[in-house]
Amino acid sequence: MNKVPFVTKEKVEEIVTKFPTPFHIYDEKGIRENAKAVKEAFAWNPGFKEYFAVKANPNPCLIKILNEYGCGCDCSSMAELTLSKAMGITGSDIMFSSNDTPAEEYAYAAKLGAIINLDDITHIDFVENILGKLPETMSCRFNPGGIFQMSNGIMDNPGDSKYGFTTEQMFEGYRILKEKGVKNFGIHAFLASNTVTNEYYPMLAKQLFELAVKLEKETGADIKFINLSGGVGIPYRPEQKKNDILMIGEGVRKVYEEILVPAGMGDIAIYTEMGRFMMGPYGQLVTKAIHEKHTHKEYIGVDACAVNLMRPAMYGAYHHITVLGKEEAPCDYMYDVTGSLCENNDKFAIDRMLPKIEKGDYLVIHDTGAHGYAMGYNYNGKLKSAELLLKEDGSVELIRRAERLSDYFATLDCLPVYQEFEF
Ligand SMILES: *Cc1c(COP(=O)(O)O)cnc(C)c1O
Repeated sequence: MNKVPFVTKEKVEEIVTKFPTPFHIYDEKGIRENAKAVKEAFAWNPGFKEYFAVKANPNPCLIKILNEYGCGCDCSSMAELTLSKAMGITGSDIMFSSNDTPAEEYAYAAKLGAIINLDDITHIDFVENILGKLPETMSCRFNPGGIFQMSNGIMDNPGDSKYGFTTEQMFEGYRILKEKGVKNFGIHAFLASNTVTNEYYPMLAKQLFELAVKLEKETGADIKFINLSGGVGIPYRPEQKKNDILMIGEGVRKVYEEILVPAGMGDIAIYTEMGRFMMGPYGQLVTKAIHEKHTHKEYIGVDACAVNLMRPAMYGAYHHITVLGKEEAPCDYMYDVTGSLCENNDKFAIDRMLPKIEKGDYLVIHDTGAHGYAMGYNYNGKLKSAELLLKEDGSVELIRRAERLSDYFATLDCLPVYQEFEF
Protein backbone atom coordinates (compact mmCIF):
# COMPACT_ATOMS: atom_id res chain seq x y z
CA MET A 1 0.00 0.00 0.00
CA ASN A 2 1.23 3.44 -0.82
CA LYS A 3 0.62 6.60 1.14
CA VAL A 4 -0.72 9.37 -1.04
CA PRO A 5 -0.36 13.00 0.06
CA PHE A 6 -3.50 15.12 -0.04
CA VAL A 7 -1.57 17.92 -1.76
CA THR A 8 0.08 17.67 -5.16
CA LYS A 9 3.27 19.32 -6.34
CA GLU A 10 1.20 21.84 -8.35
CA LYS A 11 -0.89 22.70 -5.31
CA VAL A 12 2.19 23.20 -3.13
CA GLU A 13 3.80 25.40 -5.80
CA GLU A 14 0.68 27.53 -5.72
CA ILE A 15 0.57 27.63 -1.89
CA VAL A 16 4.21 28.66 -1.45
CA THR A 17 3.63 31.84 -3.46
CA LYS A 18 1.67 33.01 -0.37
CA PHE A 19 2.92 30.85 2.49
CA PRO A 20 6.55 29.74 2.39
CA THR A 21 7.68 26.32 3.60
CA PRO A 22 7.82 24.76 6.08
CA PHE A 23 4.16 24.52 7.09
CA HIS A 24 1.68 22.03 8.44
CA ILE A 25 -1.38 21.65 6.26
CA TYR A 26 -4.62 19.93 7.29
CA ASP A 27 -7.25 18.24 5.16
CA GLU A 28 -10.73 19.46 6.08
CA LYS A 29 -12.47 16.77 4.03
CA GLY A 30 -10.57 13.97 5.77
CA ILE A 31 -11.18 15.42 9.23
CA ARG A 32 -14.93 15.68 8.56
CA GLU A 33 -15.33 12.21 7.07
CA ASN A 34 -13.48 10.63 9.97
CA ALA A 35 -15.36 12.59 12.65
CA LYS A 36 -18.62 11.49 11.03
CA ALA A 37 -17.49 7.85 11.02
CA VAL A 38 -16.59 8.03 14.73
CA LYS A 39 -20.03 9.41 15.52
CA GLU A 40 -21.71 6.65 13.51
CA ALA A 41 -19.57 3.91 15.04
CA PHE A 42 -20.89 4.71 18.51
CA ALA A 43 -24.40 5.86 17.55
CA TRP A 44 -25.74 2.73 19.31
CA ASN A 45 -24.82 4.38 22.62
CA PRO A 46 -27.14 7.37 23.18
CA GLY A 47 -24.77 9.11 25.61
CA PHE A 48 -21.64 8.68 23.48
CA LYS A 49 -19.24 11.59 23.35
CA GLU A 50 -15.76 12.05 21.91
CA TYR A 51 -13.71 14.56 23.89
CA PHE A 52 -10.97 15.52 21.46
CA ALA A 53 -7.58 15.45 23.19
CA VAL A 54 -6.67 19.10 22.71
CA LYS A 55 -2.97 18.43 23.37
CA ALA A 56 -2.81 16.51 20.07
CA ASN A 57 -3.67 19.60 18.06
CA PRO A 58 -4.71 22.79 19.85
CA ASN A 59 -5.80 24.71 16.75
CA PRO A 60 -9.26 26.24 17.36
CA CYS A 61 -10.21 26.16 13.66
CA LEU A 62 -9.77 22.38 13.65
CA ILE A 63 -11.45 21.84 17.02
CA LYS A 64 -14.43 23.86 15.74
CA ILE A 65 -14.81 21.42 12.86
CA LEU A 66 -14.84 18.47 15.27
CA ASN A 67 -17.31 20.29 17.51
CA GLU A 68 -19.79 20.27 14.61
CA TYR A 69 -19.85 16.49 15.00
CA GLY A 70 -20.55 16.70 18.72
CA CYS A 71 -16.96 16.50 19.96
CA GLY A 72 -16.04 18.17 23.22
CA CYS A 73 -12.55 18.90 24.55
CA ASP A 74 -10.27 16.76 26.68
CA CYS A 75 -8.04 19.26 28.47
CA SER A 76 -5.08 18.90 30.78
CA SER A 77 -3.73 22.41 31.32
CA MET A 78 -4.72 26.00 31.93
CA ALA A 79 -4.08 26.94 28.30
CA GLU A 80 -6.20 24.07 26.99
CA LEU A 81 -9.06 24.99 29.34
CA THR A 82 -8.78 28.63 28.30
CA LEU A 83 -8.82 27.68 24.62
CA SER A 84 -11.94 25.54 25.07
CA LYS A 85 -13.72 28.30 26.89
CA ALA A 86 -12.79 30.81 24.17
CA MET A 87 -14.43 28.49 21.63
CA GLY A 88 -17.60 28.32 23.71
CA ILE A 89 -16.92 24.71 24.75
CA THR A 90 -17.61 24.58 28.50
CA GLY A 91 -19.41 22.60 31.20
CA SER A 92 -19.70 18.86 30.68
CA ASP A 93 -18.36 19.32 27.14
CA ILE A 94 -14.93 19.54 28.79
CA MET A 95 -13.23 16.51 30.29
CA PHE A 96 -10.34 17.60 32.50
CA SER A 97 -7.99 14.59 32.40
CA SER A 98 -4.78 15.91 33.86
CA ASN A 99 -2.07 14.57 36.16
CA ASP A 100 0.25 16.18 38.69
CA THR A 101 -2.31 18.98 38.50
CA PRO A 102 -1.66 22.46 39.95
CA ALA A 103 -4.37 23.79 42.29
CA GLU A 104 -5.29 26.73 40.06
CA GLU A 105 -6.03 24.40 37.14
CA TYR A 106 -8.48 22.35 39.20
CA ALA A 107 -10.10 25.59 40.35
CA TYR A 108 -10.47 26.86 36.80
CA ALA A 109 -11.76 23.51 35.49
CA ALA A 110 -14.41 23.52 38.22
CA LYS A 111 -15.31 27.11 37.42
CA LEU A 112 -15.96 26.13 33.81
CA GLY A 113 -18.08 23.19 35.01
CA ALA A 114 -15.72 20.67 33.40
CA ILE A 115 -15.86 17.03 34.41
CA ILE A 116 -12.85 16.43 36.63
CA ASN A 117 -11.09 13.13 36.08
CA LEU A 118 -8.78 12.47 39.04
CA ASP A 119 -5.40 10.89 38.40
CA ASP A 120 -4.68 9.93 42.01
CA ILE A 121 -6.47 9.11 45.23
CA THR A 122 -4.66 11.89 47.13
CA HIS A 123 -6.26 14.38 44.75
CA ILE A 124 -9.66 13.78 46.39
CA ASP A 125 -8.56 15.81 49.42
CA PHE A 126 -6.53 18.17 47.27
CA VAL A 127 -9.56 19.10 45.14
CA GLU A 128 -11.87 19.26 48.16
CA ASN A 129 -9.51 21.71 49.83
CA ILE A 130 -9.42 23.90 46.74
CA LEU A 131 -13.14 23.89 45.99
CA GLY A 132 -14.55 23.57 49.50
CA LYS A 133 -16.94 20.94 48.21
CA LEU A 134 -16.48 18.29 45.55
CA PRO A 135 -18.50 18.56 42.32
CA GLU A 136 -21.49 16.21 41.94
CA THR A 137 -19.87 14.41 39.04
CA MET A 138 -16.36 12.99 39.26
CA SER A 139 -14.28 10.46 37.41
CA CYS A 140 -11.21 8.44 38.40
CA ARG A 141 -8.42 7.19 36.19
CA PHE A 142 -7.69 3.49 36.53
CA ASN A 143 -4.31 1.80 36.12
CA PRO A 144 -4.38 -1.98 36.70
CA GLY A 145 -0.58 -2.25 36.46
CA GLY A 146 1.11 -5.15 34.68
CA ILE A 147 1.26 -5.45 30.91
CA PHE A 148 -1.54 -4.84 28.44
CA GLN A 149 -1.24 -7.34 25.62
CA MET A 150 -3.29 -7.97 22.51
CA SER A 151 -3.38 -10.99 20.26
CA ASN A 152 -1.33 -9.31 17.52
CA GLY A 153 1.46 -8.79 20.03
CA ILE A 154 0.98 -5.04 20.45
CA MET A 155 1.36 -4.24 24.08
CA ASP A 156 1.95 -1.47 26.49
CA ASN A 157 3.17 -1.32 30.03
CA PRO A 158 0.63 0.25 32.44
CA GLY A 159 2.74 -1.03 35.36
CA ASP A 160 5.45 1.43 34.36
CA SER A 161 3.19 4.40 33.77
CA LYS A 162 2.75 7.24 36.22
CA TYR A 163 -1.00 7.55 35.68
CA GLY A 164 -4.06 6.47 37.58
CA PHE A 165 -5.38 4.65 40.65
CA THR A 166 -4.59 1.01 41.46
CA THR A 167 -7.50 -1.42 41.65
CA GLU A 168 -7.74 -1.16 45.47
CA GLN A 169 -7.53 2.61 45.27
CA MET A 170 -10.46 2.66 42.82
CA PHE A 171 -12.69 0.90 45.37
CA GLU A 172 -11.46 3.02 48.25
CA GLY A 173 -11.65 6.21 46.18
CA TYR A 174 -15.25 5.63 45.10
CA ARG A 175 -16.27 4.94 48.71
CA ILE A 176 -14.64 8.15 49.89
CA LEU A 177 -16.10 10.20 47.02
CA LYS A 178 -19.55 8.82 47.74
CA GLU A 179 -19.23 9.67 51.44
CA LYS A 180 -18.22 13.18 50.44
CA GLY A 181 -21.42 13.63 48.46
CA VAL A 182 -20.39 12.86 44.87
CA LYS A 183 -23.45 11.56 42.99
CA ASN A 184 -22.35 10.68 39.48
CA PHE A 185 -19.28 8.61 38.72
CA GLY A 186 -17.07 7.93 35.74
CA ILE A 187 -14.24 5.50 35.07
CA HIS A 188 -11.32 6.36 32.81
CA ALA A 189 -8.33 4.36 31.61
CA PHE A 190 -5.62 4.77 28.98
CA LEU A 191 -3.64 1.53 28.87
CA ALA A 192 -1.99 1.39 25.44
CA SER A 193 -0.84 4.02 22.97
CA ASN A 194 -1.12 4.12 19.16
CA THR A 195 -2.74 0.70 18.87
CA VAL A 196 -3.11 -0.30 15.23
CA THR A 197 -5.69 -3.03 15.82
CA ASN A 198 -9.48 -3.08 16.13
CA GLU A 199 -9.10 -5.03 19.37
CA TYR A 200 -7.86 -2.38 21.78
CA TYR A 201 -11.06 -0.51 22.68
CA PRO A 202 -13.17 -3.70 22.99
CA MET A 203 -10.52 -5.32 25.23
CA LEU A 204 -10.17 -2.21 27.37
CA ALA A 205 -13.96 -1.82 27.49
CA LYS A 206 -14.36 -5.38 28.74
CA GLN A 207 -11.91 -4.76 31.56
CA LEU A 208 -13.56 -1.45 32.52
CA PHE A 209 -17.11 -2.80 32.26
CA GLU A 210 -16.27 -5.68 34.58
CA LEU A 211 -14.68 -3.22 37.00
CA ALA A 212 -17.75 -0.95 36.77
CA VAL A 213 -20.10 -3.78 37.71
CA LYS A 214 -17.97 -4.64 40.76
CA LEU A 215 -17.48 -1.02 41.77
CA GLU A 216 -21.17 -0.27 41.63
CA LYS A 217 -22.01 -3.40 43.59
CA GLU A 218 -19.42 -2.93 46.30
CA THR A 219 -19.44 0.84 46.75
CA GLY A 220 -22.95 1.78 45.63
CA ALA A 221 -21.46 4.49 43.38
CA ASP A 222 -23.76 5.35 40.48
CA ILE A 223 -21.59 4.95 37.40
CA LYS A 224 -22.79 7.18 34.57
CA PHE A 225 -19.97 6.96 32.06
CA ILE A 226 -16.96 4.94 31.04
CA ASN A 227 -14.19 6.83 29.28
CA LEU A 228 -12.04 4.71 26.97
CA SER A 229 -9.70 7.69 26.53
CA GLY A 230 -7.17 7.75 23.65
CA GLY A 231 -4.81 5.18 22.26
CA VAL A 232 -6.55 4.31 19.00
CA GLY A 233 -3.70 4.44 16.54
CA ILE A 234 -3.05 5.24 12.92
CA PRO A 235 -0.89 3.51 10.30
CA TYR A 236 2.26 5.62 10.16
CA ARG A 237 3.89 2.97 7.98
CA PRO A 238 2.57 2.21 4.50
CA GLU A 239 2.39 -1.53 5.20
CA GLN A 240 0.15 -1.09 8.25
CA LYS A 241 -3.60 -1.60 7.97
CA LYS A 242 -5.70 1.24 9.28
CA ASN A 243 -8.16 0.76 12.10
CA ASP A 244 -11.81 0.33 11.18
CA ILE A 245 -13.70 2.56 13.60
CA LEU A 246 -17.06 0.93 12.73
CA MET A 247 -15.66 -2.46 13.74
CA ILE A 248 -14.20 -0.93 16.90
CA GLY A 249 -17.59 0.57 17.79
CA GLU A 250 -19.29 -2.77 17.18
CA GLY A 251 -16.68 -4.55 19.29
CA VAL A 252 -17.40 -2.21 22.20
CA ARG A 253 -21.15 -2.68 21.70
CA LYS A 254 -20.74 -6.46 21.91
CA VAL A 255 -19.01 -6.37 25.32
CA TYR A 256 -21.42 -3.66 26.51
CA GLU A 257 -24.31 -6.02 25.78
CA GLU A 258 -22.50 -8.97 27.34
CA ILE A 259 -21.48 -7.27 30.58
CA LEU A 260 -23.27 -4.00 31.32
CA VAL A 261 -26.78 -4.73 30.00
CA PRO A 262 -27.29 -7.95 32.03
CA ALA A 263 -26.02 -6.12 35.14
CA GLY A 264 -28.79 -3.53 34.70
CA MET A 265 -26.21 -0.91 33.71
CA GLY A 266 -27.33 -0.46 30.10
CA ASP A 267 -27.66 3.31 30.48
CA ILE A 268 -23.94 4.01 30.88
CA ALA A 269 -22.53 6.51 28.38
CA ILE A 270 -19.34 5.69 26.50
CA TYR A 271 -16.82 8.49 26.20
CA THR A 272 -13.59 8.62 24.23
CA GLU A 273 -10.67 11.06 24.24
CA MET A 274 -9.03 10.35 20.93
CA GLY A 275 -6.41 12.71 19.63
CA ARG A 276 -4.23 10.87 17.15
CA PHE A 277 -7.10 9.03 15.48
CA MET A 278 -9.12 12.23 15.00
CA MET A 279 -6.37 14.33 13.48
CA GLY A 280 -3.11 12.42 12.82
CA PRO A 281 -3.63 11.32 9.20
CA TYR A 282 -5.18 14.66 8.19
CA GLY A 283 -2.07 16.74 8.75
CA GLN A 284 1.14 16.85 6.70
CA LEU A 285 4.34 18.81 7.12
CA VAL A 286 5.49 20.30 3.83
CA THR A 287 9.17 21.16 3.62
CA LYS A 288 11.70 22.00 0.93
CA ALA A 289 15.05 20.32 0.27
CA ILE A 290 17.64 23.09 0.62
CA HIS A 291 20.91 21.15 0.80
CA GLU A 292 22.44 17.86 -0.16
CA LYS A 293 25.52 16.64 1.59
CA HIS A 294 27.77 13.72 0.67
CA THR A 295 30.02 12.60 3.52
CA HIS A 296 30.00 9.30 5.39
CA LYS A 297 26.33 9.13 4.46
CA GLU A 298 24.03 10.83 1.97
CA TYR A 299 22.11 13.68 3.56
CA ILE A 300 19.22 15.80 2.39
CA GLY A 301 18.82 18.97 4.46
CA VAL A 302 15.31 20.39 4.53
CA ASP A 303 13.93 23.70 5.79
CA ALA A 304 11.88 22.05 8.57
CA CYS A 305 13.49 20.58 11.68
CA ALA A 306 12.54 18.75 14.86
CA VAL A 307 10.87 21.85 16.31
CA ASN A 308 8.22 21.40 13.62
CA LEU A 309 7.85 17.68 14.25
CA MET A 310 9.50 16.18 17.28
CA ARG A 311 8.29 12.59 17.11
CA PRO A 312 11.17 11.13 15.06
CA ALA A 313 13.80 12.74 17.32
CA MET A 314 11.91 12.01 20.53
CA TYR A 315 10.67 8.46 19.95
CA GLY A 316 12.46 7.35 16.80
CA ALA A 317 8.97 7.44 15.30
CA TYR A 318 8.50 6.61 11.63
CA HIS A 319 6.87 9.25 9.44
CA HIS A 320 6.43 8.39 5.80
CA ILE A 321 7.92 10.82 3.28
CA THR A 322 6.75 11.51 -0.26
CA VAL A 323 8.84 13.59 -2.66
CA LEU A 324 6.26 15.61 -4.57
CA GLY A 325 6.29 15.11 -8.32
CA LYS A 326 8.33 11.92 -7.88
CA GLU A 327 5.52 9.72 -6.56
CA GLU A 328 6.09 7.14 -9.29
CA ALA A 329 9.90 7.34 -9.39
CA PRO A 330 11.90 4.35 -8.09
CA CYS A 331 13.13 4.67 -4.48
CA ASP A 332 16.74 3.85 -5.29
CA TYR A 333 18.60 6.38 -3.15
CA MET A 334 19.23 6.00 0.56
CA TYR A 335 19.15 9.20 2.59
CA ASP A 336 19.11 10.66 6.04
CA VAL A 337 16.65 13.56 5.86
CA THR A 338 17.80 16.17 8.35
CA GLY A 339 16.79 19.44 9.92
CA SER A 340 19.15 22.21 11.00
CA LEU A 341 19.22 21.79 14.80
CA CYS A 342 22.60 21.29 16.42
CA GLU A 343 21.43 17.86 17.55
CA ASN A 344 22.27 14.71 15.69
CA ASN A 345 18.82 13.29 16.35
CA ASP A 346 17.29 16.03 14.22
CA LYS A 347 16.48 13.62 11.41
CA PHE A 348 13.07 13.01 9.88
CA ALA A 349 14.33 9.78 8.36
CA ILE A 350 17.41 7.60 8.69
CA ASP A 351 18.60 5.28 5.91
CA ARG A 352 15.33 5.87 4.07
CA MET A 353 14.98 4.69 0.47
CA LEU A 354 13.61 7.59 -1.57
CA PRO A 355 13.71 8.82 -5.16
CA LYS A 356 16.72 10.95 -6.05
CA ILE A 357 16.10 14.31 -4.40
CA GLU A 358 17.21 17.61 -5.93
CA LYS A 359 17.53 20.90 -4.12
CA GLY A 360 14.18 22.68 -4.39
CA ASP A 361 12.10 19.49 -4.23
CA TYR A 362 9.14 19.58 -1.88
CA LEU A 363 8.85 16.76 0.62
CA VAL A 364 5.61 15.81 2.34
CA ILE A 365 6.07 14.30 5.78
CA HIS A 366 2.89 12.36 6.48
CA ASP A 367 0.63 11.99 9.51
CA THR A 368 1.61 15.12 11.38
CA GLY A 369 -1.94 16.15 12.33
CA ALA A 370 -1.62 14.94 15.93
CA HIS A 371 1.34 15.52 18.25
CA GLY A 372 3.04 17.34 15.37
CA TYR A 373 2.88 21.13 15.51
CA ALA A 374 1.55 20.73 19.05
CA MET A 375 4.84 19.35 20.39
CA GLY A 376 6.83 22.14 18.81
CA TYR A 377 9.45 24.07 20.69
CA ASN A 378 11.98 26.80 20.04
CA TYR A 379 15.35 25.13 20.43
CA ASN A 380 18.19 26.86 18.57
CA GLY A 381 15.87 29.85 18.30
CA LYS A 382 13.91 28.10 15.56
CA LEU A 383 10.47 29.53 15.03
CA LYS A 384 7.26 27.56 14.83
CA SER A 385 5.74 27.25 11.39
CA ALA A 386 2.37 28.31 10.02
CA GLU A 387 -0.64 26.00 9.96
CA LEU A 388 -2.85 25.92 6.88
CA LEU A 389 -6.21 24.34 6.18
CA LEU A 390 -6.95 22.79 2.80
CA LYS A 391 -10.67 23.41 2.62
CA GLU A 392 -13.20 21.16 0.97
CA ASP A 393 -13.48 23.54 -1.98
CA GLY A 394 -9.73 23.31 -2.62
CA SER A 395 -8.87 26.74 -1.26
CA VAL A 396 -6.23 27.18 1.42
CA GLU A 397 -6.72 29.18 4.61
CA LEU A 398 -4.05 30.34 7.05
CA ILE A 399 -5.26 29.06 10.45
CA ARG A 400 -2.14 30.02 12.40
CA ARG A 401 0.56 32.37 11.20
CA ALA A 402 4.21 31.41 11.45
CA GLU A 403 6.06 32.74 14.48
CA ARG A 404 8.14 35.87 13.99
CA LEU A 405 11.36 36.78 15.73
CA SER A 406 9.33 39.30 17.73
CA ASP A 407 7.36 36.37 19.19
CA TYR A 408 10.57 34.64 20.15
CA PHE A 409 11.92 37.73 21.91
CA ALA A 410 8.58 38.80 23.42
CA THR A 411 9.38 37.49 26.90
CA LEU A 412 12.72 39.32 27.20
CA ASP A 413 11.45 42.37 29.04
CA CYS A 414 14.99 43.07 30.27
CA LEU A 415 16.65 43.22 26.88
CA PRO A 416 15.29 45.25 24.00
CA VAL A 417 17.12 42.98 21.57
CA TYR A 418 14.17 42.96 19.20
CA GLN A 419 14.87 46.57 18.28
CA GLU A 420 17.77 45.28 16.26
CA PHE A 421 15.38 43.71 13.79
CA GLU A 422 12.85 44.95 11.37
CA PHE A 423 9.61 43.03 11.47
C1 LIG B 1 -2.68 12.00 25.10
C2 LIG B 1 -3.99 11.72 25.73
C3 LIG B 1 -5.11 11.39 24.96
C4 LIG B 1 -5.04 11.23 23.46
O1 LIG B 1 -4.28 10.16 23.08
P1 LIG B 1 -4.16 9.71 21.56
O2 LIG B 1 -3.26 8.56 21.60
O3 LIG B 1 -3.66 10.88 20.81
O4 LIG B 1 -5.54 9.32 21.11
C5 LIG B 1 -6.30 11.18 25.60
N1 LIG B 1 -6.42 11.30 26.94
C6 LIG B 1 -5.38 11.62 27.72
C7 LIG B 1 -5.58 11.76 29.18
C8 LIG B 1 -4.14 11.84 27.15
O5 LIG B 1 -3.09 12.15 27.93
